Amino acid sequence: MRPAAAVLEPYDAAFSQADVNLSANENDYPMPAAAREAIDAAIARTPTNRYPIAMADELREAIAAWHGVGKDQVIVGNGGDELLFNLILAFGGANRPLLVLSPTFSVYELYATLLETPVIRLWRDPDSFGVDEDEAVEAARRANLVIVTTPNNPTGNLSSPEFVARLCGACPGIVLADEAYIEFAEKGSSSEGLLLAHDNLSVLRTLSKAYQFAGGRLGYALASPDVIAALAAVRQPYSVGVLAQAAALAILEHRLEFQHSIDRIRRERERTLSALAALSDMGLRVWPSSANFLLVRLPHAAEARARLRDEFSILVRDLSDAPGLADCLRITIGRPDENDAVVDAITTILKGESQ
Ligand code: PMP
Repeated sequence: MRPAAAVLEPYDAAFSQADVNLSANENDYPMPAAAREAIDAAIARTPTNRYPIAMADELREAIAAWHGVGKDQVIVGNGGDELLFNLILAFGGANRPLLVLSPTFSVYELYATLLETPVIRLWRDPDSFGVDEDEAVEAARRANLVIVTTPNNPTGNLSSPEFVARLCGACPGIVLADEAYIEFAEKGSSSEGLLLAHDNLSVLRTLSKAYQFAGGRLGYALASPDVIAALAAVRQPYSVGVLAQAAALAILEHRLEFQHSIDRIRRERERTLSALAALSDMGLRVWPSSANFLLVRLPHAAEARARLRDEFSILVRDLSDAPGLADCLRITIGRPDENDAVVDAITTILKGESQ
């Protein structure tokens, strides 16, 4: 094995069967019926004997029209993950450091390790998870690639477009704003409006979260034509299949119908945040979030996570081993009954009671 690959473990989402799955930041609300019908119809009329159109022209056209950019400013991938990999493949490598604002999405470092790209980790404030923006801008001057995740996974907080613009000004290479969860944030939070002024900015989006297409795998990036061309040069030509392309087009046509569950999740997030915040005298801390999940810290988190799974059949994400996230769990916002169930179960666990 390549030495850089031999040190890696296979990605483990620690999934197991459970009644309530709040572990992977999916949108578990019913899909809008008309959107689902359109997906089914699109798949039914799509032949599978021919290879896909490699650059997914029709889909890119639709994404470009939505975002008000040119088709040459859009690229699609097999989930946002593929685009993250391709970004580091194209712009990373030895002596071409990647700056990340930790704790953040672990996949960046995984890909950087595999692609022999040095990582500069700038730590967020351990209490608020805010970023020291001046320090980050200074560090960006030494990086070939900067990834700023907004809202950040798993801490839920935003980075402002003003800060992203400063990073673009400082970094001699590429700045990626990973906006996988942006649909759940306050209006005006996206950095996409900066694309015109900053040709080294790339904005990553996905249909996995708000648009309920995690299983279909469709992510996309917006960037200048030069950056898109670099990403196109390194990509595997047929990574996005015909069925995913057809279904994603149907989702885009019906995208307004998804607003209902997005709004619902935002309201549920605030309700669940209040319910969890009320457990503070039992040692629980919860951070506000602009995404579809909440980060909590509680005593004996790994044990609590195992009890949630084994006694309550509720799956949440255990982050307690990750640097900077001691005793932290990440809870996806689900349907109201699911959110009530996880709050009740955590209350029971904190009270030291058993089911
Ligand atoms: N970025 C962030 C911050 C994420 O949390 C995720 C999903 N876990 C992704 C990108 C990629 O999502 P997908 O590959 O499903 O598009």
